[in-house]
Amino acid sequence: MPTSIRNAVLTALSVLPAVRSAAHIPVRGGDTAAPVLRSQQDTCNQLKQALTGANATISKTRTTACIVSPKNTQEVSTVVKILSQTQTKFAIRSGGHNYIPGFASVNESGVLVSLSNLNTTVLSTDKKSAKIGPGNRWLAVYQALVPQGVTVVGGRVGPVGVGGLMLGGGLSYFATQRGLALDNVKSYEVVLANGSIVTATATNQYSDLYKGLRGGGSNFGIVTNYELYTYPVGQFSVDARAYSTNQTDAFLRAVAEYQQEGQLDPLSSIQLLATGPTIMLLYNEAVQSAKAFDAFYNLGSYTPIAAFNGSLLDIMALTGSRFSTGNISTYGETFTHKVDADLNIDLYNIFVEEIANLPTGASGVWVPNPIAASVATVGKQYGGNLLGLQEVPQQWYEWFITWTDSTQEQTIRDISQRITQRCTAATEAKDADLPYLFTNTAGIKQNVLSSFGADNVNTIKAIAAKYDPGQVFQKLQNDGFLIRKL
Ligand SMILES: Cc1cc2nc3c(=O)[nH]c(=O)nc-3n(C[C@H](O)[C@H](O)[C@H](O)COP(=O)(O)OP(=O)(O)OC[C@H]3O[C@@H](n4cnc5c(N)ncnc54)[C@H](O)[C@@H]3O)c2cc1C
Repeated sequence: MPTSIRNAVLTALSVLPAVRSAAHIPVRGGDTAAPVLRSQQDTCNQLKQALTGANATISKTRTTACIVSPKNTQEVSTVVKILSQTQTKFAIRSGGHNYIPGFASVNESGVLVSLSNLNTTVLSTDKKSAKIGPGNRWLAVYQALVPQGVTVVGGRVGPVGVGGLMLGGGLSYFATQRGLALDNVKSYEVVLANGSIVTATATNQYSDLYKGLRGGGSNFGIVTNYELYTYPVGQFSVDARAYSTNQTDAFLRAVAEYQQEGQLDPLSSIQLLATGPTIMLLYNEAVQSAKAFDAFYNLGSYTPIAAFNGSLLDIMALTGSRFSTGNISTYGETFTHKVDADLNIDLYNIFVEEIANLPTGASGVWVPNPIAASVATVGKQYGGNLLGLQEVPQQWYEWFITWTDSTQEQTIRDISQRITQRCTAATEAKDADLPYLFTNTAGIKQNVLSSFGADNVNTIKAIAAKYDPGQVFQKLQNDGFLIRKL
């Protein structure tokens, strides 16, 4: 992408949602945390002695007992054994982008297992698969693969972590054609509760674990490597544009029309860029004016943000450009509904009405994800997952609020809850509700696992009971979408 265009894009994309970064993950306890308990100190000392490889394997913090950063899978195994033997509470963190306090963080009563050192990307010699460490960021993965002419089905924003995105489903620019990221896993390397290291594939003796990890998240063990199928990748056509706010209703109808028609073209995808009628039209080939986007072309005038043919790395430069740092808290929730143009408008209006009540300094971002019916179909064709998706076009609604003043937290949680309640009631009134809740954008009180359906929940429970009979990942793991909460 020429520099002049790129600069224009970066300026114009001040409309992109502010990004949640690892630095923003709230960790309970804060700087005034109570002193680390004796037993946690002992565990930290034991970990320090056991992980000999290392300068920085253990760091002390004032908000966790300690952070342990294993250098390889064997060290992860050692860590799990020690945590299990000492019955120490822990949390697992890959990229740390999940915004729920306690999911990828733990207070002073526990140890944070950071997988940041497991960050290699190794392409197979036949270039048909790549082994990717959970501590990677997607940008690093694409930087390793794209120059070799291939990519994997992964995240849409470069700085986001691999480990959590993969376990939670994983929405990519290839979803309509290739399903979710987790549908494209060839094998998982996993450290189980007893410290054993296994590789689970669709056909080996751990095929049940492989199936479980296609939806069951962190209920079974720590994933230390994802082997993903690769696909050839070339140039994309990118067209980011902003319509005027008085075109908002027509724009929301166009989103519904695209989902019914244009989205049938598996090379097309759209990404809403911010609250309001701003969108990126993306085509997985360098074409001009793909017919799939007619619903948007027919809206008439717009302000161009960017239009270029470029690589996946150019797209990462675009979408990763507003990765904010600093002391920003984020919280959001999700729900799913069938495609309905009037409903799109109702839901948007509810969101805008509610965020008008936000306290000074807080802001809300509305970025629904339009999902093609083929995402569920392809998932089945690629071996099936445990998400219980219905084969209809649907919206995985995503919205979040960012704020910096910690005294505003309760007000923001109340507003968040009201947005979900009002939007859910509106979808039910139109009989357009779908049960699925997208793990990667769900809120703390949302019952993600149950949304997959009773059969899938029972499968997850059975696999967890088999691979973690002592319930290490239920009893000691700080928080998460865990079966212990069902
Ligand atoms: C700017 C931005 C853009 C995003 N874009 C996308 C997108 O395009 N597509 C999409 O699907 N999602 C997207 N997300 C959501 C994202 O997938 C989640 O935030 C996800 O949790 C990020 O992965 P992570 O590695 O940072 O997870 P973390 O926050 O590290 O972990 C999330 C959860 O998974 C558990 N976990 C993490 N790694 C492991 C492991 N190896 N083994 C066992 N348990 C583990 C953690 O304990 C935690 O409960 C985006 C988020 C942000 C902030």
